[in-house]
Amino acid sequence: MSKADKKAAKRQAQEAEVSAAAKAGAASKQMKRAIVYLAKESPGIFPLALLQAVMEAAYPYIGILLSAGILTELADPGRSMSHLFRMALLLVGLNFLGRRMMDFGGQLLDVLQYTVLKHIERAVAEKAWKMDYAMSADPKINETKQRITRWHYSRGVLALVGQVRGVFQALVTIGISIALVAEFFRAKAVGEDRTAALLNHWAVSVLFLVLLSFSIIYSIYTSFRIQKYYFKTNETSEKPINRMMYLMDSCFSKYRNGKDIRMFHAKEQISGKLRALGGEYLREIEPAFRYERRKTFYSILISRCFDLLVYLFVGAKAIFGAFGVGSILKYTGMVTQLGDGVTRLCDTVRDFLQNLEYVEVYFRYLDMPNATAEGTLPVTQEIRDNYEFEFRNVTFAYPGAPGPSLSGISCRFRKGEKIAIVGRNGSGKTTFIKLLCRLCDPQEGEILLNGVDIRKYQYQEYLSFFSTVFQDYQIFDFKLGENVAAESEYDGERVKEALENAGFGERLRTLADGLDTQLFKRFSEDGVELSGGESQKVAIARCLYKDAPYLVLDEPTAALDPLAEADIYQRMNQFARDKGAIYISHRLSSCHFCNRIMVFEEGRIAEQGSHEELLEAGGLYRRLWDAQAQYYA
Ligand code: ADP
Repeated sequence: MSKADKKAAKRQAQEAEVSAAAKAGAASKQMKRAIVYLAKESPGIFPLALLQAVMEAAYPYIGILLSAGILTELADPGRSMSHLFRMALLLVGLNFLGRRMMDFGGQLLDVLQYTVLKHIERAVAEKAWKMDYAMSADPKINETKQRITRWHYSRGVLALVGQVRGVFQALVTIGISIALVAEFFRAKAVGEDRTAALLNHWAVSVLFLVLLSFSIIYSIYTSFRIQKYYFKTNETSEKPINRMMYLMDSCFSKYRNGKDIRMFHAKEQISGKLRALGGEYLREIEPAFRYERRKTFYSILISRCFDLLVYLFVGAKAIFGAFGVGSILKYTGMVTQLGDGVTRLCDTVRDFLQNLEYVEVYFRYLDMPNATAEGTLPVTQEIRDNYEFEFRNVTFAYPGAPGPSLSGISCRFRKGEKIAIVGRNGSGKTTFIKLLCRLCDPQEGEILLNGVDIRKYQYQEYLSFFSTVFQDYQIFDFKLGENVAAESEYDGERVKEALENAGFGERLRTLADGLDTQLFKRFSEDGVELSGGESQKVAIARCLYKDAPYLVLDEPTAALDPLAEADIYQRMNQFARDKGAIYISHRLSSCHFCNRIMVFEEGRIAEQGSHEELLEAGGLYRRLWDAQAQYYA
């Protein structure tokens, strides 16, 4: 190796050391944070886990020690029946009491863990609501979210409780076993012959300990290797499982999906996809299964051979009078317990180290900063009273998308102006309003409100500037009034007025519980199912109730009958008299009343103008108009 190569290798090693140290530092910080987090969420969780660990470690020894005592007493010609009876009673009593206490402690711990689990799930859900809209659509971020929520108790922050418990239990087991091992070595075979001398020889004891260590170390080594193998495949094997869960959740748990599933016999198709994902999972995980089978075969073989040796050694010492027959049970039991204790300790430490990544993923997800600048400028009443929006050469691409959904968009619109956006599917209309409402930020260009970049305004105040009905609006499983007001405390009269203006007045009068009517059946058997058109009217009412300065309506009447549509547009116009509004609509006849129509095509504004001007121009709008007009003709 040349001098330069040596230097480079040394630098690389130093860098690796620094990065490993930094990683370890960061991990220990996250671990401390996780422990504080758990202790804060549930102060009793660690004390109870430790108590449970002590009970579980001590429990097997009750059986071992008392059974050994009973056997010794039985083998003694001068045995006392009353002593035997007392010991048997103690054995049964302690066994019963110990089991009951452990069951009770276990149940209590389950409750505490469940409470923390719900808190974790809520924190993850809240983060998802609060993060930038564009981030929430990012497939990588969604995958991370699924990784956190899928593991429940076995990975992540909550797994620490089991790990602390496991370590403590293992330490107590090892402590008790070592005391018994020492006692075993102190017990000397009696007699003058060579076998007794051999059994008492220090070299035999050392050999025994070496073999014990070898058996334990080999089983730990095997388990480490197996887990490492699994861990390596985790990220790829988790993907199909997460997708299966998503598919099952989205297809089977939503009652409304039942129609399409039945009509298109989609059950077979979905089952096929689930089978394919299951197959993909098995293909990913199969090598790890095979590896585990191979490795555990040798480990179990060695362990059983060693058990045989233990029985021979302990039995021989008993034959040579080192201890009574009852102690055979005690000392063979102790070796098994010692092995179990050490293996558990190593397994738990290994789990703990592997779990660091999941703890880190959890906090990294919660800490993920929003890319959307919060802004500081207030949206003053002056702006609300008189405003103008301007898109200046705006380009936007969704995360992970191959190309931009909008390119070089420039336009202006102001208070009082009614704008219609038309265009073919996928031409960028919805994306345009997402940018206007700051659900996404453009990568290039600027969107200005009264000449100031909208990113400079306080985000929440800016959002309150808009009343919206999105194409994929959500009506929640709440009461009708709560849905319209988007809060639990509301002005009933205003809610009724909004419902009336949205064309829902007649239906409202048929509902016995009025605004207190529970929507949908998930929370109440008496819940009312709404038709598509009725749901849309409720969404429009919500938009009207908010009464923001600017209205954004993405195909708000797509599910309405023509009479209801005409009626709503009339009321909406009345309502939005001096507001600004953007309507996206495929029914060009309803764009008539707008001051300006913008025609989108492949992410660009292809043409804009009044209805008459666009018809005159004979472009895309004309073609769309003629295509629709022929049906009316
Ligand atoms: P329109 O409202 O005109 O039907 P959209 O604005 O919804 O069109 O979509 C414009 C383009 O952006 C389409 O090609 C669509 O596939 C793409 N798109 C929309 N939403 C996303 C998303 N969340 N991620 C990636 N691409 C998207």
